[in-house]
Amino acid sequence: MNFKQLEFKKHNDPLVALSVTDVIQETDDVRTFRLDNSKGVLSPHKPGMFVKVCLNIKGENVWRSFTISSSPLHPKQIDLTIKRNPRGVAGNYFFEHISPGSEIKIKGPLGRFFYDRELHTEPVVLLCAGIGITPMMSIVRFLSDIKQNSPCALFYGARSHLDIIFDQETKQFISELPGFQYFLTLSQPSPQWLGNCGHLNIDFIQTKIPQFLRSRFFLCGPRHFNQEFEEQLLGSGVPQSLIHCELFHKKRKSK
Ligand SMILES: Cc1cc2nc3c(=O)[nH]c(=O)nc-3n(C[C@H](O)[C@H](O)[C@H](O)COP(=O)(O)OP(=O)(O)OC[C@H]3O[C@@H](n4cnc5c(N)ncnc54)[C@H](O)[C@@H]3O)c2cc1C
Repeated sequence: MNFKQLEFKKHNDPLVALSVTDVIQETDDVRTFRLDNSKGVLSPHKPGMFVKVCLNIKGENVWRSFTISSSPLHPKQIDLTIKRNPRGVAGNYFFEHISPGSEIKIKGPLGRFFYDRELHTEPVVLLCAGIGITPMMSIVRFLSDIKQNSPCALFYGARSHLDIIFDQETKQFISELPGFQYFLTLSQPSPQWLGNCGHLNIDFIQTKIPQFLRSRFFLCGPRHFNQEFEEQLLGSGVPQSLIHCELFHKKRKSK
């Protein structure tokens, strides 16, 4: 499917209802809501794409976007991995009211931020922070499903060891996928932490990626994270066509 077809789809996707089969506690404030798509009512997605969720909260429709964190090669199950923000409307609603058996109305899949195995033949570099791990996880799970041997490096910045999402599963991919590398860095590590500390930075990434200038980069983090990395990648000579950015906190016009 090309971009034009995806854009066309965007305006034609119906609102579908999927029931929740499982809720997985990933960290204190992150849960994965697993939805039953066994009837195939949600059309296939590419790894990195998102859905729009419509929640009816106090009689009003509240729309929010959530990335599909599961692999497209397991289309019967759709995972949404959601971070709760103490002041947030939808995140709090999910945590307090959505449990196995609940129905969720969604529209999609949507978005231009995705990995395409036919077009994206370069080494893949995934740069993310916090909940920005969700599209990267869909990509890595997909690469694992297709047993991809070419290079893929995941750079993931989290706050403390309590905030690391999908850590065990990601570590498993290192042994399963010969081309896969995982670099985790904590900005608020405990004194016992023996891994990388601080914020991700371009020098660190450059030292780890031998084919830096001809890699394809996927960025997902807070606004300043995306902006800084995009500028630094461009400044280092990476062409714009090899940089994909996803931003979770865009300015919303309305609920
Ligand atoms: C394409 C796309 C994909 C997304 N995928 C995911 C995903 O996979 N998982 C996920 O959890 N979210 C994802 N989001 C973000 C999600 O759509 C919501 O914006 C988020 O869950 C907050 O919604 P809320 O209703 O809980 O908070 P709101 O009621 O919208 O916000 C309440 C207040 O908190 C602020 N706020 C909320 N969250 C944050 C934050 N994390 N950092 C800083 N300020 C914040 C808001 O600006 C506001 O001031 C995605 C967004 C987009 C556009």
